[in-house]
Amino acid sequence: RRPARPRRDLVCPRLVAPCSHKHNPSIRVMQWNILAQALGEGKDGFIRCPLEALSWHERKYQILEEILTYRPDILCLQEVDHYYDTFRPIMASLGYHGSFLPKPWSPCLDVEHNNGPDGCALFYRRSRFSLHSTAHLRLSAMMLPTNQVAIAQTLHCQVTGRWLCVAVTHLKARSGWERLRSAQGADLLQSLQRITSHCGGQKQAELGAIPLVVCGDFNAEPSEDVYRRFSSSPLGLSSAYKLLSCDGKTEPAYTTWKIRPSGESCSTLDYIWYSHDALSVETLLDIPTEEQIGPDRLPSYHYPSDHLSLLCDVSFREEPHRLL
Ligand code: NDP
Ligand code: CA
Repeated sequence: RRPARPRRDLVCPRLVAPCSHKHNPSIRVMQWNILAQALGEGKDGFIRCPLEALSWHERKYQILEEILTYRPDILCLQEVDHYYDTFRPIMASLGYHGSFLPKPWSPCLDVEHNNGPDGCALFYRRSRFSLHSTAHLRLSAMMLPTNQVAIAQTLHCQVTGRWLCVAVTHLKARSGWERLRSAQGADLLQSLQRITSHCGGQKQAELGAIPLVVCGDFNAEPSEDVYRRFSSSPLGLSSAYKLLSCDGKTEPAYTTWKIRPSGESCSTLDYIWYSHDALSVETLLDIPTEEQIGPDRLPSYHYPSDHLSLLCDVSFREEPHRLL
């Protein structure tokens, strides 16, 4: 019999005054690379994970259970290769609108008995948001199209009347590709700059840029160029999970931890970026400890993906110069 899955706590970052936004209902955002079924079984080589724990029959309930435990308003997923047969219908029945963009040449297609290409998916709760526009982006690097994609949606929040742009991406994996990731990040930032500066035919400059949340598996440690690009862009983005640390400046020690035949790999690759002038982070879902993850690392019966889910509640800051 399996022991109970370790609980993850929702914690208040130390640097945020508690209950400072009671009047302003927060938006719950979840970021998760759920591990493509075809890659997990056919390519990744997770030698310490029991085969049964890797089966879709087992994993799909674990993934859905985690999503349903937290019921995010915005859900950003990578490595989705069961969109049409699983996530779209189930999430639709739970009141979510979904959008999916497969990778042009998904590595899933090389796996026998695959379920189609993997890609990024973005869901929002229909009772909370209405859709203004969707951009399906194929990321370029040095003017050339790459195999990586992003979805960006401009949403209107029914509760606060505010606009929000949400984006999801999954950058090129593996070491040796740092410059490609950096170029992909630059391309994405440029598209987001364009998208957040216009809304409803109005030049948003008069109203201030639309607040932005960017979720992704960046496949890059915080020391990489693409991380620096995001944290210093004119869009004014900050990485939410830094707020879990004591000094508010340090990313978690890991967001993925796995053992392959080539060895153990423990790294911080996943991020939730947010516009720090327009949004504040009120709560974050804690990162499981090494002991909770266990000696066989990820994935496992308790954690269906080799990446941990990230989750935070954000709220709009007061807007002194708001015209609407
Ligand atoms: P990436 O290098 O970005 O990686 C794809 C997946 O592999 C990611 O989901 C990544 O997971 C995972 N991964 C990372 N490290 C490892 C590892 N050490 N072992 C196993 N899996 C790992 O792939 P691309 O998007 O660039 O696609 C490459 C594939 O695309 C090729 O395998 C090829 O099949 C296909 N392709 C085909 C073309 C064609 O003409 N048919 C053209 C171009 C590509 P994570 O993000 O979690 O780290
Ligand atoms: Ca992967």
